[in-house]
Amino acid sequence: MEKQHNDSEKKRENYLSWDETFMLVAGVIAQRSKDPNTQLGACIVDENNVIVGLGYNGFPRGCSDDLLPWRRGREFKLSETKYAYVVHSEANAIFNANKSVKDCKLYTSLFPCNECAKIIIQSGIKEIIYQEDWYHDDEAWVASRKMFDLAGVKYWQYTPQYDIKKLFTEEKISSLPKEIKLNQNPNASDFVFEEII
Ligand code: ZN
Repeated sequence: MEKQHNDSEKKRENYLSWDETFMLVAGVIAQRSKDPNTQLGACIVDENNVIVGLGYNGFPRGCSDDLLPWRRGREFKLSETKYAYVVHSEANAIFNANKSVKDCKLYTSLFPCNECAKIIIQSGIKEIIYQEDWYHDDEAWVASRKMFDLAGVKYWQYTPQYDIKKLFTEEKISSLPKEIKLNQNPNASDFVFEEII
């Protein structure tokens, strides 16, 4: 992160919008998922744009990520696949919330399935902002939209300008040689303590 000297009296122009911020947050928390195929995240915010809950797709608390199966093949019995065990990111975000999610907005990597739709509606969430809609025509997603429409839950798509996944394919700063790290922060030496925020 580069420290900049700027004496402008005007505000910075290229700051992140709330929608961009929370969709990226959903993308970051998705990276916590142990699912080898699908990493999804959800971020719930209140009317003041304060984050109330975060979630990603994973097994229930206390159910070891190493003892239950991650496979998804439809040729296996349900209890031999992840489908029997995984809690979806939207549901986890609701379960993890630190206060009521009534009237909150939910940012999610993927349009919610019908099971999550039921939980979202019952919890009082009023708006869904989704990034992907991979299963639009699948029956479960048809049912989702049917329920959201009946319950008056708004939903709309937002495609972030930044690709959060690229962040996790790039080399970590800590793994770079020291010289390169310094070059990334040319103002590091004239850092003014009072301006650190
Ligand atoms: Zn779901």
